[in-house]
Amino acid sequence: MRDLAYPHNGKVRFNRRERDLGELLAAAMRPKIIAEHLEIANSTCHERIDAMCLKAKVSDRAELMLYIYQNPTSLDPGSANEPGLHAVGCHCGKPGCLGRIAERLRTA
Ligand SMILES: [Zn+2]
Repeated sequence: MRDLAYPHNGKVRFNRRERDLGELLAAAMRPKIIAEHLEIANSTCHERIDAMCLKAKVSDRAELMLYIYQNPTSLDPGSANEPGLHAVGCHCGKPGCLGRIAERLRTA
């Protein structure tokens, strides 16, 4: 299972179907609507989301959305991104970065 999820030196690489799903997920579409758009079963849509979460090392759909915001190139063919969300305290400044969000909360 691990080999299937991480065949690229530990980097995250989504396949074409996953990237198509990711585009719709990043637009905040719900799985039921995504399934209709992609003309796949609702259960297939959820299975694909679960597989993407496993690859990206995130725990759920909301975190997967955040992962895509932090790693927009993950939706490009042939891209390879580090798994996991940015740590709290990260100062990369990318949209959706947890460090940036934590910073905002502190200064609010
Ligand atoms: Zn960051």
